[in-house]
Amino acid sequence: MSRGKKIAEQIIDKYCIKNPRDLNLEEIANAEGLIIEESNISGSLGKIIFNDDYGLILINKSINNEGLKRFTIAHEMGHYLINKYSSQNKHGWTIDSFGDYISNRNHETEADHFAAELLMHKPWFSKFIKNIPVCLDLIKQISAEFNVSLTAAALRYAEIGQYPIAVIMSKDAAVQWSFLNEYFPCKYLPGGSRVPKESNAWDFFNGKEMSEDEDLIPAKSWFKQDLRCKATTYLYEQNIVIPVINSVMTILWQSEYD
Ligand SMILES: [Zn+2]
Repeated sequence: MSRGKKIAEQIIDKYCIKNPRDLNLEEIANAEGLIIEESNISGSLGKIIFNDDYGLILINKSINNEGLKRFTIAHEMGHYLINKYSSQNKHGWTIDSFGDYISNRNHETEADHFAAELLMHKPWFSKFIKNIPVCLDLIKQISAEFNVSLTAAALRYAEIGQYPIAVIMSKDAAVQWSFLNEYFPCKYLPGGSRVPKESNAWDFFNGKEMSEDEDLIPAKSWFKQDLRCKATTYLYEQNIVIPVINSVMTILWQSEYD
């Protein structure tokens, strides 16, 4: 298990948090020696400056998505708490900016793991999704239950959900990034791939009204470059527009489990 996840679990234990509704980020932050302020920072979602015992988190004032704001706070808390509760790596003052890609990638991944585990602790998450068929509506329910963005909810499902799904973010009709569950039947979808015409997402990028309904499409339409993806594999697809970034998030899952 990653260090970020482990330390998120320690925090959940330490404060006896039993469910996502009891999770008060600001209270934990304050108890651990952190102050959180909203600020006019530009170029990143959040920043933190800290030493081993206390620190200051600045959150970009212009974030109006509550879920994204919470993930940003949890991410910055992660940097501080991972340092505080890891025996090694003690150092002086550290500064981190979230979202500007300057920071150390390993530390970023750890802080993201911390945030995902803290906000969507695995036992809570697994209990919530248990035996519910996957679809966009479930992702929306997760987002509401855990007070996280749709993207964070979908990524967490792709990581530890009951059924293997793919999450794809597209902009200007091209794939920006994707995250595939390890058991998802197709494996290779490079950034920059074109959104296929068979997809409802294509409608959005071509000025048409996009349906949020689920559709069955050949896996090959998205995974053209994946040589191991079979022509006989069909996937269910659902799309949702993420207006702030003018992007479409697609989730895909297999039509039958054999
Ligand atoms: Zn960071």
